Amino acid sequence: AAEEGFDLEEVEGAIDEAGHGPLPVLAVVGRPNVGKSTLVNRIIGRREAVVEDKPGVTRDRVTYEAEWAGRRFKVVDTGGWEQDVLGIDASVAAQAEYAIEASDAVVFVVDSTVGATDTDEAVVKLLRRAGKPVVLCANKVDGQSGEADATALWSLGLGEPHPVSSLHGRGTGDLLDAVLEALPEAPAQRFGTAIGGPRRIALIGRPNVGKSSLLNKVANEDRVVVNELAGTTRDPVDELIELGGITWKFIDTAGIRRRVHLQEGADYYASLRTAAAVEKAEVAVVLIDAGESISVQDQRIITMAVEAGRALVIAYNKWDKLDEERRYYLEREIETELAQIAWAPRVNVSAVTGRHMEKLVPAIETALASWETRIPTGRLNAFLGEIVASHPHPVRGGKQPRILFGTQAGTKPPRFVLFASGFLEHGYRRFVERRLREEFGFEGTPIHISVRVRE
Ligand code: GDP
Ligand code: GDP
Repeated sequence: AAEEGFDLEEVEGAIDEAGHGPLPVLAVVGRPNVGKSTLVNRIIGRREAVVEDKPGVTRDRVTYEAEWAGRRFKVVDTGGWEQDVLGIDASVAAQAEYAIEASDAVVFVVDSTVGATDTDEAVVKLLRRAGKPVVLCANKVDGQSGEADATALWSLGLGEPHPVSSLHGRGTGDLLDAVLEALPEAPAQRFGTAIGGPRRIALIGRPNVGKSSLLNKVANEDRVVVNELAGTTRDPVDELIELGGITWKFIDTAGIRRRVHLQEGADYYASLRTAAAVEKAEVAVVLIDAGESISVQDQRIITMAVEAGRALVIAYNKWDKLDEERRYYLEREIETELAQIAWAPRVNVSAVTGRHMEKLVPAIETALASWETRIPTGRLNAFLGEIVASHPHPVRGGKQPRILFGTQAGTKPPRFVLFASGFLEHGYRRFVERRLREEFGFEGTPIHISVRVRE
Protein backbone atom coordinates (compact mmCIF):
# COMPACT_ATOMS: atom_id res chain seq x y z
CA ALA A 1 0.00 0.00 0.00
CA ALA A 2 2.74 2.43 0.95
CA GLU A 3 4.41 2.28 -2.47
CA GLU A 4 1.10 3.16 -4.05
CA GLY A 5 0.98 6.46 -2.20
CA PHE A 6 -1.41 5.60 0.62
CA ASP A 7 -0.04 5.20 4.09
CA LEU A 8 -1.20 2.30 6.19
CA GLU A 9 -3.13 4.40 8.64
CA GLU A 10 -5.10 6.01 5.85
CA VAL A 11 -5.92 2.63 4.35
CA GLU A 12 -7.02 1.19 7.67
CA GLY A 13 -9.11 4.27 8.41
CA ALA A 14 -10.86 4.01 5.07
CA ILE A 15 -11.58 0.33 5.57
CA ASP A 16 -12.98 0.96 9.04
CA GLU A 17 -15.20 3.72 7.77
CA ALA A 18 -16.49 1.86 4.73
CA GLY A 19 -16.89 -1.37 6.62
CA HIS A 20 -19.23 -0.08 9.25
CA GLY A 21 -21.99 -2.53 10.02
CA PRO A 22 -25.61 -1.53 10.27
CA LEU A 23 -25.91 1.91 11.87
CA PRO A 24 -27.58 2.49 15.22
CA VAL A 25 -30.99 4.11 15.00
CA LEU A 26 -32.21 7.19 16.80
CA ALA A 27 -35.95 7.85 16.98
CA VAL A 28 -37.27 11.37 17.46
CA VAL A 29 -40.68 11.25 19.13
CA GLY A 30 -43.13 13.68 20.71
CA ARG A 31 -46.46 15.40 20.24
CA PRO A 32 -47.31 17.16 16.98
CA ASN A 33 -45.85 20.66 16.59
CA VAL A 34 -43.23 20.37 19.29
CA GLY A 35 -40.58 20.69 16.57
CA LYS A 36 -39.57 17.10 15.78
CA SER A 37 -39.14 17.63 12.06
CA THR A 38 -37.29 20.89 12.62
CA LEU A 39 -34.93 19.06 14.95
CA VAL A 40 -34.45 16.20 12.48
CA ASN A 41 -33.52 18.77 9.86
CA ARG A 42 -30.89 20.15 12.23
CA ILE A 43 -29.54 16.71 12.97
CA ILE A 44 -29.23 15.65 9.35
CA GLY A 45 -27.84 19.08 8.54
CA ARG A 46 -29.84 19.56 5.41
CA ARG A 47 -32.80 21.68 4.54
CA GLU A 48 -34.70 18.80 3.08
CA ALA A 49 -38.39 19.14 2.67
CA VAL A 50 -38.96 17.52 6.02
CA VAL A 51 -40.97 20.38 7.47
CA GLU A 52 -44.15 20.86 5.55
CA ASP A 53 -46.11 24.01 6.09
CA LYS A 54 -49.26 22.55 4.68
CA PRO A 55 -51.14 20.41 7.14
CA GLY A 56 -52.25 17.07 5.82
CA VAL A 57 -49.21 16.59 3.61
CA THR A 58 -47.92 13.12 4.20
CA ARG A 59 -44.42 11.98 3.57
CA ASP A 60 -43.04 8.59 2.72
CA ARG A 61 -39.54 9.21 3.86
CA VAL A 62 -39.01 8.62 7.54
CA THR A 63 -35.41 7.46 7.92
CA TYR A 64 -32.34 9.61 7.31
CA GLU A 65 -28.62 9.16 7.76
CA ALA A 66 -26.81 11.56 10.03
CA GLU A 67 -23.31 12.12 11.37
CA TRP A 68 -22.08 13.90 14.47
CA ALA A 69 -18.54 14.05 15.81
CA GLY A 70 -17.45 11.42 13.31
CA ARG A 71 -20.14 8.91 14.24
CA ARG A 72 -22.86 7.88 11.86
CA PHE A 73 -26.35 6.86 12.77
CA LYS A 74 -29.86 6.81 11.39
CA VAL A 75 -32.68 9.10 12.43
CA VAL A 76 -36.33 8.13 12.33
CA ASP A 77 -38.57 11.16 12.07
CA THR A 78 -42.10 10.61 13.29
CA GLY A 79 -43.18 14.17 12.57
CA GLY A 80 -45.29 13.36 9.55
CA TRP A 81 -48.12 11.92 11.55
CA GLU A 82 -51.29 13.90 11.36
CA GLN A 83 -52.78 14.29 14.78
CA ASP A 84 -56.37 13.90 13.67
CA VAL A 85 -55.92 10.47 12.16
CA LEU A 86 -56.38 8.42 15.28
CA GLY A 87 -56.97 11.10 17.84
CA ILE A 88 -53.96 12.74 19.34
CA ASP A 89 -53.17 10.40 22.21
CA ALA A 90 -53.59 7.22 20.23
CA SER A 91 -51.60 8.55 17.30
CA VAL A 92 -48.71 9.82 19.38
CA ALA A 93 -48.64 6.55 21.30
CA ALA A 94 -48.72 4.41 18.16
CA GLN A 95 -46.12 6.57 16.49
CA ALA A 96 -43.84 6.39 19.49
CA GLU A 97 -44.37 2.66 19.79
CA TYR A 98 -43.11 1.95 16.28
CA ALA A 99 -40.27 4.39 16.48
CA ILE A 100 -39.15 3.01 19.83
CA GLU A 101 -39.35 -0.56 18.62
CA ALA A 102 -37.11 0.14 15.68
CA SER A 103 -34.59 2.29 17.53
CA ASP A 104 -31.59 2.04 19.80
CA ALA A 105 -32.11 5.37 21.56
CA VAL A 106 -34.83 8.00 21.62
CA VAL A 107 -34.91 11.78 21.64
CA PHE A 108 -38.13 12.81 23.31
CA VAL A 109 -39.06 16.33 22.23
CA VAL A 110 -41.19 18.53 24.47
CA ASP A 111 -42.31 22.08 23.71
CA SER A 112 -40.88 23.91 26.70
CA THR A 113 -43.06 26.97 26.04
CA VAL A 114 -46.08 24.74 26.63
CA GLY A 115 -44.63 22.53 29.34
CA ALA A 116 -45.37 18.85 29.98
CA THR A 117 -48.88 17.85 28.93
CA ASP A 118 -50.85 14.69 29.72
CA THR A 119 -49.92 13.35 26.30
CA ASP A 120 -46.25 13.93 27.10
CA GLU A 121 -46.72 12.03 30.36
CA ALA A 122 -48.29 9.15 28.44
CA VAL A 123 -45.30 8.97 26.10
CA VAL A 124 -42.96 8.97 29.10
CA LYS A 125 -44.75 5.83 30.34
CA LEU A 126 -44.20 4.16 26.96
CA LEU A 127 -40.56 5.15 26.99
CA ARG A 128 -40.07 3.73 30.49
CA ARG A 129 -41.63 0.45 29.46
CA ALA A 130 -39.44 0.19 26.36
CA GLY A 131 -36.30 0.63 28.42
CA LYS A 132 -34.39 2.35 25.62
CA PRO A 133 -32.04 5.20 26.51
CA VAL A 134 -33.87 8.54 26.30
CA VAL A 135 -32.50 12.02 25.76
CA LEU A 136 -34.96 14.75 26.74
CA CYS A 137 -35.08 17.70 24.37
CA ALA A 138 -36.67 20.84 25.82
CA ASN A 139 -37.37 22.51 22.51
CA LYS A 140 -38.19 26.10 21.58
CA VAL A 141 -35.77 27.56 24.07
CA ASP A 142 -34.85 30.31 21.64
CA GLY A 143 -33.04 32.46 24.21
CA GLN A 144 -31.74 32.74 27.76
CA SER A 145 -35.19 33.60 29.07
CA GLY A 146 -36.54 30.18 28.06
CA GLU A 147 -34.04 28.25 30.18
CA ALA A 148 -36.36 28.20 33.21
CA ASP A 149 -39.08 26.50 31.13
CA ALA A 150 -36.55 23.81 30.25
CA THR A 151 -35.59 23.30 33.89
CA ALA A 152 -39.26 22.72 34.73
CA LEU A 153 -39.14 19.56 32.59
CA TRP A 154 -37.05 17.73 35.21
CA SER A 155 -40.54 16.87 36.49
CA LEU A 156 -40.93 14.30 33.72
CA GLY A 157 -38.42 12.10 35.49
CA LEU A 158 -36.35 11.48 32.38
CA GLY A 159 -33.24 13.15 33.71
CA GLU A 160 -31.67 16.33 32.45
CA PRO A 161 -33.76 18.36 29.99
CA HIS A 162 -31.52 19.68 27.22
CA PRO A 163 -32.56 23.22 26.29
CA VAL A 164 -32.62 23.48 22.51
CA SER A 165 -33.85 25.78 19.79
CA SER A 166 -34.26 23.50 16.80
CA LEU A 167 -35.25 26.51 14.78
CA HIS A 168 -32.07 28.50 15.45
CA GLY A 169 -29.69 25.68 16.32
CA ARG A 170 -29.10 26.79 19.89
CA GLY A 171 -28.07 23.87 22.12
CA THR A 172 -28.31 21.24 19.41
CA GLY A 173 -24.59 20.43 19.70
CA ASP A 174 -24.94 19.58 23.39
CA LEU A 175 -28.05 17.56 22.64
CA LEU A 176 -26.19 15.56 20.00
CA ASP A 177 -23.30 14.94 22.39
CA ALA A 178 -25.83 13.45 24.81
CA VAL A 179 -27.35 11.44 21.96
CA LEU A 180 -23.97 9.91 21.09
CA GLU A 181 -23.49 8.94 24.71
CA ALA A 182 -26.88 7.23 24.74
CA LEU A 183 -26.54 5.53 21.37
CA PRO A 184 -24.72 2.18 21.22
CA GLU A 185 -21.97 1.83 18.59
CA ALA A 186 -23.96 -0.80 16.73
CA PRO A 187 -27.61 -1.77 16.84
CA ALA A 188 -26.64 -4.99 18.57
CA GLN A 189 -29.75 -6.38 20.21
CA ARG A 190 -32.01 -5.86 17.26
CA PHE A 191 -29.67 -6.74 14.50
CA GLY A 192 -27.30 -9.32 15.88
CA THR A 193 -27.90 -12.58 14.12
CA ALA A 194 -28.24 -14.63 17.26
CA ILE A 195 -26.24 -17.79 16.81
CA GLY A 196 -28.58 -20.23 15.21
CA GLY A 197 -31.46 -17.80 15.57
CA PRO A 198 -34.05 -17.65 12.82
CA ARG A 199 -33.42 -15.33 9.88
CA ARG A 200 -35.62 -12.26 9.85
CA ILE A 201 -37.89 -11.47 6.92
CA ALA A 202 -39.82 -8.24 6.39
CA LEU A 203 -42.79 -8.82 4.11
CA ILE A 204 -43.52 -5.36 2.75
CA GLY A 205 -45.47 -3.65 0.02
CA ARG A 206 -48.17 -1.05 -0.38
CA PRO A 207 -51.67 -1.72 0.97
CA ASN A 208 -53.67 -4.42 -0.85
CA VAL A 209 -50.79 -6.04 -2.70
CA GLY A 210 -51.55 -9.24 -0.81
CA LYS A 211 -49.22 -9.28 2.20
CA SER A 212 -51.71 -10.76 4.61
CA SER A 213 -52.93 -13.27 2.00
CA LEU A 214 -49.39 -14.39 1.33
CA LEU A 215 -48.62 -14.65 5.01
CA ASN A 216 -51.70 -16.76 5.58
CA LYS A 217 -50.82 -18.94 2.63
CA VAL A 218 -47.29 -19.63 3.79
CA ALA A 219 -48.28 -20.00 7.43
CA ASN A 220 -51.31 -22.24 7.04
CA GLU A 221 -50.98 -24.47 4.09
CA ASP A 222 -49.25 -27.75 4.80
CA ARG A 223 -46.66 -25.84 6.74
CA VAL A 224 -46.11 -25.80 10.43
CA VAL A 225 -46.56 -22.66 12.42
CA VAL A 226 -43.88 -22.74 15.03
CA ASN A 227 -45.14 -21.32 18.25
CA GLU A 228 -42.19 -21.63 20.49
CA LEU A 229 -38.57 -22.17 19.79
CA ALA A 230 -36.20 -22.97 22.59
CA GLY A 231 -33.86 -20.14 23.41
CA THR A 232 -35.55 -17.43 21.41
CA THR A 233 -37.28 -14.48 22.95
CA ARG A 234 -40.58 -14.05 21.29
CA ASP A 235 -41.72 -10.69 20.10
CA PRO A 236 -45.52 -10.81 19.98
CA VAL A 237 -45.69 -8.92 16.70
CA ASP A 238 -43.28 -11.26 14.95
CA GLU A 239 -44.09 -14.79 13.94
CA LEU A 240 -41.97 -17.88 13.56
CA ILE A 241 -42.97 -19.82 10.46
CA GLU A 242 -41.41 -22.96 9.09
CA LEU A 243 -40.85 -22.95 5.35
CA GLY A 244 -38.82 -25.41 3.36
CA GLY A 245 -37.65 -27.09 6.55
CA ILE A 246 -36.27 -23.87 7.99
CA THR A 247 -37.75 -21.65 10.67
CA TRP A 248 -38.00 -17.99 9.67
CA LYS A 249 -39.00 -14.99 11.68
CA PHE A 250 -41.53 -12.83 9.88
CA ILE A 251 -41.35 -9.29 11.25
CA ASP A 252 -44.41 -7.35 12.37
CA THR A 253 -46.96 -9.88 11.22
CA ALA A 254 -49.41 -8.42 13.73
CA GLY A 255 -49.33 -5.25 11.68
CA ILE A 256 -49.91 -7.17 8.46
CA ARG A 257 -52.80 -9.14 9.88
CA ARG A 258 -54.42 -6.29 11.72
CA ARG A 259 -55.07 -4.49 8.44
CA VAL A 260 -55.47 -1.02 9.81
CA HIS A 261 -57.86 0.99 7.74
CA LEU A 262 -57.17 4.66 7.96
CA GLN A 263 -58.08 7.38 5.58
CA GLU A 264 -55.72 10.31 5.99
CA GLY A 265 -52.24 9.65 7.16
CA ALA A 266 -52.51 6.00 6.25
CA ASP A 267 -49.58 6.23 3.86
CA TYR A 268 -47.37 7.74 6.48
CA TYR A 269 -48.46 5.17 9.03
CA ALA A 270 -47.63 2.43 6.54
CA SER A 271 -44.24 4.01 5.78
CA LEU A 272 -43.26 4.20 9.42
CA ARG A 273 -44.31 0.62 9.95
CA THR A 274 -42.40 -0.50 6.86
CA ALA A 275 -39.28 1.38 7.96
CA ALA A 276 -39.49 -0.28 11.38
CA ALA A 277 -39.90 -3.75 9.87
CA VAL A 278 -37.01 -3.21 7.45
CA GLU A 279 -34.77 -2.06 10.32
CA LYS A 280 -35.44 -5.28 12.19
CA ALA A 281 -35.10 -7.58 9.19
CA GLU A 282 -32.19 -9.06 7.31
CA VAL A 283 -34.06 -9.61 4.08
CA ALA A 284 -37.01 -7.71 2.62
CA VAL A 285 -39.53 -9.45 0.42
CA VAL A 286 -41.29 -6.69 -1.47
CA LEU A 287 -44.70 -7.64 -2.80
CA ILE A 288 -45.91 -5.95 -5.94
CA ASP A 289 -49.41 -6.28 -7.39
CA ALA A 290 -48.55 -7.58 -10.85
CA GLY A 291 -52.04 -6.75 -12.04
CA GLU A 292 -51.47 -3.03 -11.61
CA SER A 293 -48.91 -0.59 -12.94
CA ILE A 294 -45.77 -0.34 -10.87
CA SER A 295 -46.24 2.81 -8.82
CA VAL A 296 -44.01 5.43 -7.24
CA GLN A 297 -45.05 3.98 -3.90
CA ASP A 298 -43.78 0.53 -4.92
CA GLN A 299 -40.49 2.13 -5.86
CA ARG A 300 -40.24 4.02 -2.59
CA ILE A 301 -40.74 0.83 -0.63
CA ILE A 302 -38.01 -0.88 -2.62
CA THR A 303 -35.74 2.13 -2.08
CA MET A 304 -36.35 1.93 1.65
CA ALA A 305 -35.09 -1.66 1.74
CA VAL A 306 -32.11 -0.92 -0.53
CA GLU A 307 -31.07 2.18 1.39
CA ALA A 308 -31.30 0.25 4.63
CA GLY A 309 -28.84 -2.19 3.05
CA ARG A 310 -31.05 -5.25 3.35
CA ALA A 311 -31.13 -8.29 1.10
CA LEU A 312 -34.00 -8.03 -1.37
CA VAL A 313 -36.46 -10.31 -3.14
CA ILE A 314 -39.26 -9.04 -5.36
CA ALA A 315 -42.47 -11.06 -5.43
CA TYR A 316 -44.95 -10.22 -8.17
CA ASN A 317 -48.25 -11.28 -6.65
CA LYS A 318 -51.73 -11.89 -8.09
CA TRP A 319 -50.16 -13.67 -11.05
CA ASP A 320 -53.46 -15.54 -11.48
CA LYS A 321 -55.07 -12.29 -12.66
CA LEU A 322 -52.64 -11.63 -15.50
CA ASP A 323 -53.60 -11.88 -19.14
CA GLU A 324 -51.17 -11.83 -22.07
CA GLU A 325 -51.41 -8.10 -22.52
CA ARG A 326 -50.79 -7.20 -18.87
CA ARG A 327 -47.90 -9.61 -18.79
CA TYR A 328 -46.33 -7.85 -21.74
CA TYR A 329 -46.68 -4.43 -20.17
CA LEU A 330 -45.48 -5.67 -16.80
CA GLU A 331 -42.22 -6.83 -18.33
CA ARG A 332 -41.74 -3.45 -20.01
CA GLU A 333 -42.48 -1.67 -16.72
CA ILE A 334 -40.01 -3.82 -14.83
CA GLU A 335 -37.34 -2.99 -17.41
CA THR A 336 -37.92 0.73 -17.24
CA GLU A 337 -39.08 1.35 -13.66
CA LEU A 338 -37.07 -1.22 -11.76
CA ALA A 339 -33.84 -1.35 -13.77
CA GLN A 340 -31.84 -0.23 -10.73
CA ILE A 341 -32.72 -3.41 -8.86
CA ALA A 342 -32.37 -5.83 -11.75
CA TRP A 343 -30.07 -7.76 -9.39
CA ALA A 344 -32.93 -8.76 -7.07
CA PRO A 345 -34.28 -12.29 -7.50
CA ARG A 346 -37.82 -12.32 -8.74
CA VAL A 347 -40.69 -14.70 -8.10
CA ASN A 348 -44.10 -14.59 -9.79
CA VAL A 349 -46.59 -15.81 -7.23
CA SER A 350 -50.24 -15.99 -6.39
CA ALA A 351 -51.22 -15.89 -2.75
CA VAL A 352 -54.66 -17.14 -3.80
CA THR A 353 -53.73 -20.18 -5.89
CA GLY A 354 -50.40 -20.84 -4.21
CA ARG A 355 -48.57 -20.57 -7.51
CA HIS A 356 -44.77 -20.71 -7.18
CA MET A 357 -44.83 -20.38 -3.42
CA GLU A 358 -42.08 -22.97 -3.31
CA LYS A 359 -39.78 -20.58 -5.17
CA LEU A 360 -39.91 -17.98 -2.42
CA VAL A 361 -37.56 -19.68 0.01
CA PRO A 362 -34.79 -20.42 -2.52
CA ALA A 363 -34.94 -16.78 -3.63
CA ILE A 364 -34.65 -15.58 -0.04
CA GLU A 365 -31.76 -17.94 0.61
CA THR A 366 -29.94 -16.74 -2.48
CA ALA A 367 -30.36 -13.12 -1.45
CA LEU A 368 -29.14 -13.77 2.10
CA ALA A 369 -26.12 -15.74 0.86
CA SER A 370 -25.13 -12.84 -1.42
CA TRP A 371 -25.69 -10.39 1.41
CA GLU A 372 -23.10 -12.24 3.48
CA THR A 373 -20.59 -12.92 0.74
CA ARG A 374 -16.98 -12.02 1.36
CA ILE A 375 -14.59 -11.85 -1.57
CA PRO A 376 -11.01 -12.69 -0.60
CA THR A 377 -8.70 -9.71 -1.14
CA GLY A 378 -6.46 -11.63 -3.51
CA ARG A 379 -9.34 -12.59 -5.79
CA LEU A 380 -10.77 -9.09 -5.68
CA ASN A 381 -7.46 -7.52 -6.68
CA ALA A 382 -6.87 -10.00 -9.47
CA PHE A 383 -10.28 -9.00 -10.80
CA LEU A 384 -9.58 -5.26 -10.36
CA GLY A 385 -6.27 -5.69 -12.16
CA GLU A 386 -8.06 -7.26 -15.11
CA ILE A 387 -10.57 -4.42 -15.24
CA VAL A 388 -7.89 -1.76 -15.16
CA ALA A 389 -6.02 -3.52 -17.95
CA SER A 390 -8.99 -4.23 -20.19
CA HIS A 391 -11.14 -1.16 -19.47
CA PRO A 392 -8.97 1.70 -18.24
CA HIS A 393 -10.62 4.87 -17.01
CA PRO A 394 -10.85 7.53 -19.75
CA VAL A 395 -8.05 10.09 -19.77
CA ARG A 396 -9.13 13.40 -18.23
CA GLY A 397 -7.04 16.57 -18.39
CA GLY A 398 -4.04 14.59 -19.53
CA LYS A 399 -4.29 12.21 -16.56
CA GLN A 400 -5.59 8.72 -16.28
CA PRO A 401 -7.08 7.83 -12.89
CA ARG A 402 -6.38 4.24 -12.02
CA ILE A 403 -7.75 1.82 -9.43
CA LEU A 404 -4.64 0.83 -7.48
CA PHE A 405 -6.13 -1.78 -5.19
CA GLY A 406 -9.25 -2.60 -3.25
CA THR A 407 -10.64 -4.58 -0.40
CA GLN A 408 -13.99 -5.70 0.92
CA ALA A 409 -14.44 -3.80 4.15
CA GLY A 410 -17.64 -5.43 5.31
CA THR A 411 -20.63 -7.66 4.65
CA LYS A 412 -24.40 -7.51 5.19
CA PRO A 413 -24.41 -5.94 2.62
CA PRO A 414 -20.99 -6.26 0.94
CA ARG A 415 -19.01 -3.03 1.18
CA PHE A 416 -15.92 -2.33 -0.88
CA VAL A 417 -13.28 0.35 -0.72
CA LEU A 418 -11.27 1.09 -3.84
CA PHE A 419 -8.07 3.09 -3.65
CA ALA A 420 -7.43 5.14 -6.76
CA SER A 421 -4.80 7.46 -8.15
CA GLY A 422 -7.40 10.04 -9.16
CA PHE A 423 -11.11 10.82 -9.17
CA LEU A 424 -13.21 8.03 -10.69
CA GLU A 425 -16.15 9.25 -12.70
CA HIS A 426 -19.65 8.15 -11.90
CA GLY A 427 -19.96 6.16 -15.11
CA TYR A 428 -16.76 4.27 -14.37
CA ARG A 429 -17.91 3.44 -10.85
CA ARG A 430 -21.14 2.11 -12.27
CA PHE A 431 -19.13 0.04 -14.71
CA VAL A 432 -17.02 -1.40 -11.89
CA GLU A 433 -20.16 -2.29 -9.93
CA ARG A 434 -21.68 -3.97 -12.96
CA ARG A 435 -18.52 -6.00 -13.54
CA LEU A 436 -18.31 -6.91 -9.86
CA ARG A 437 -21.84 -8.27 -10.05
CA GLU A 438 -21.09 -10.17 -13.25
CA GLU A 439 -18.00 -11.69 -11.70
CA PHE A 440 -19.17 -12.48 -8.18
CA GLY A 441 -22.95 -12.71 -8.39
CA PHE A 442 -24.42 -10.71 -5.53
CA GLU A 443 -27.90 -11.65 -6.64
CA GLY A 444 -30.33 -10.13 -4.16
CA THR A 445 -28.03 -7.76 -2.32
CA PRO A 446 -27.18 -4.10 -2.65
CA ILE A 447 -23.43 -3.49 -2.72
CA HIS A 448 -21.59 -0.38 -1.58
CA ILE A 449 -18.47 0.89 -3.25
CA SER A 450 -16.54 3.80 -1.85
CA VAL A 451 -13.47 5.24 -3.50
CA ARG A 452 -10.44 6.78 -1.80
CA VAL A 453 -8.32 9.03 -3.94
CA ARG A 454 -4.62 9.51 -3.30
CA GLU A 455 -3.94 13.15 -2.45
P1 GDP B 1 -43.41 18.42 14.54
O1 GDP B 1 -44.87 18.34 14.25
O2 GDP B 1 -43.13 17.99 15.95
O3 GDP B 1 -42.54 17.74 13.54
O4 GDP B 1 -43.05 19.99 14.54
P2 GDP B 1 -42.38 20.88 13.37
O5 GDP B 1 -40.92 20.59 13.29
O6 GDP B 1 -43.19 20.77 12.16
O7 GDP B 1 -42.52 22.32 14.06
C1 GDP B 1 -43.77 22.85 14.41
C2 GDP B 1 -43.66 24.35 14.45
O8 GDP B 1 -42.81 24.76 15.53
C3 GDP B 1 -43.07 24.96 13.19
O9 GDP B 1 -43.76 26.12 12.88
C4 GDP B 1 -41.64 25.25 13.58
O10 GDP B 1 -41.09 26.31 12.85
C5 GDP B 1 -41.78 25.60 15.03
N1 GDP B 1 -40.54 25.31 15.78
C6 GDP B 1 -39.82 24.17 15.77
N2 GDP B 1 -38.74 24.29 16.57
C7 GDP B 1 -38.78 25.52 17.10
C8 GDP B 1 -37.92 26.25 18.01
O11 GDP B 1 -36.89 25.76 18.48
N3 GDP B 1 -38.30 27.51 18.34
C9 GDP B 1 -39.42 28.07 17.84
N4 GDP B 1 -39.70 29.32 18.21
N5 GDP B 1 -40.23 27.44 16.99
C10 GDP B 1 -39.92 26.19 16.62
P1 GDP C 1 -52.40 -6.47 2.10
O1 GDP C 1 -53.08 -5.18 2.35
O2 GDP C 1 -51.11 -6.29 1.36
O3 GDP C 1 -52.23 -7.34 3.30
O4 GDP C 1 -53.36 -7.27 1.07
P2 GDP C 1 -54.39 -8.46 1.30
O5 GDP C 1 -53.69 -9.75 1.55
O6 GDP C 1 -55.40 -8.05 2.29
O7 GDP C 1 -55.05 -8.57 -0.14
C1 GDP C 1 -55.79 -7.50 -0.72
C2 GDP C 1 -56.80 -8.09 -1.69
O8 GDP C 1 -56.11 -8.73 -2.76
C3 GDP C 1 -57.70 -9.14 -1.07
O9 GDP C 1 -58.97 -8.97 -1.59
C4 GDP C 1 -57.07 -10.46 -1.50
O10 GDP C 1 -58.01 -11.49 -1.61
C5 GDP C 1 -56.54 -10.09 -2.88
N1 GDP C 1 -55.39 -10.93 -3.25
C6 GDP C 1 -54.28 -11.14 -2.52
N2 GDP C 1 -53.42 -11.96 -3.18
C7 GDP C 1 -54.02 -12.28 -4.35
C8 GDP C 1 -53.66 -13.09 -5.47
O11 GDP C 1 -52.59 -13.69 -5.54
N3 GDP C 1 -54.54 -13.15 -6.50
C9 GDP C 1 -55.74 -12.49 -6.48
N4 GDP C 1 -56.52 -12.62 -7.52
N5 GDP C 1 -56.10 -11.72 -5.45
C10 GDP C 1 -55.28 -11.61 -4.39
